[in-house]
Amino acid sequence: MIESQEQFSRQILAFGIEGQKAIMNTKVGIVGLGGMGSCVVQMLSYLGTQEFVLVDDDRVEESNLNRLVGAVREDIVNKTLKVEVAQRVIRSINPKANITMLGNLRSEEVLERLAIFPDVIFGCVDNDSTRMILTDLAAAYRKILIDCATEIEPDGDKVKNFGGRVVIARPGDFCLWCANQIDARVAKEELETDREKSFRQHHGYGLGALIVAPAVISLNMTIAGLAVTEFLMLITGIREPERKLTYKGMTRGKVVPSNDFKKPGCFVCESLVGKADKVDLKRYLRSSLPADLPK
Ligand SMILES: [Zn+2]
Repeated sequence: MIESQEQFSRQILAFGIEGQKAIMNTKVGIVGLGGMGSCVVQMLSYLGTQEFVLVDDDRVEESNLNRLVGAVREDIVNKTLKVEVAQRVIRSINPKANITMLGNLRSEEVLERLAIFPDVIFGCVDNDSTRMILTDLAAAYRKILIDCATEIEPDGDKVKNFGGRVVIARPGDFCLWCANQIDARVAKEELETDREKSFRQHHGYGLGALIVAPAVISLNMTIAGLAVTEFLMLITGIREPERKLTYKGMTRGKVVPSNDFKKPGCFVCESLVGKADKVDLKRYLRSSLPADLPK
């Protein structure tokens, strides 16, 4: 129900009452409330989203203050959770929103809530293991997964390349494996226990320690803006959403749609869709690495 039509009057001119209702009735999950997720959550709050599930167990640190939307200096002293910052942003715009805050994705409760509650999940994380888990979950439970990523490639004290991309993965239509956006080797190494990691590193193979990556708010805003706009296409039916949009910052600021389609034989798109009984998400909770991950 639209209580304050005036608040959304400029959007109703664009989407109509039905479009606005569709936006407000869509339940959204956001996994990762850092630089990217905080931009997404702010835009969705302004658009009128009413129901949020927020997933992140990180707390605000000083190095986040260049880009975490809604974060203030006191959050460092108070060790505020990033989901609490997001909740504050949502409440400041929409006091009646229904918000569920959850911690680590690799817990039974969080996976269950994500499997049941949202219609659309925004993946706003910087790691391939989470992308892999969300890809399984979204397909098995028929959720739309909108995955966002940015990259800045430094070269000494200069920038060699920068950009980002959005993948809109609809069950059975396209997924992050089809889009070549999961590196199975990286994902596996991220899922290891500390003991496994130290054993592997001791034997001299693998990718080593996590690197602290550059991050700039305007690039996050660009990609989050593309992601939320494709979400609006999907929800209001203005046009078909793209499967993948790539922003090439060093190539004269182009945004390029992809011609990619589902890969023939994709296990996720062809065998996992709607098969909640077939996908064993609990294998991601075990202390050791699942043995049956894709090569
Ligand atoms: Zn696929």
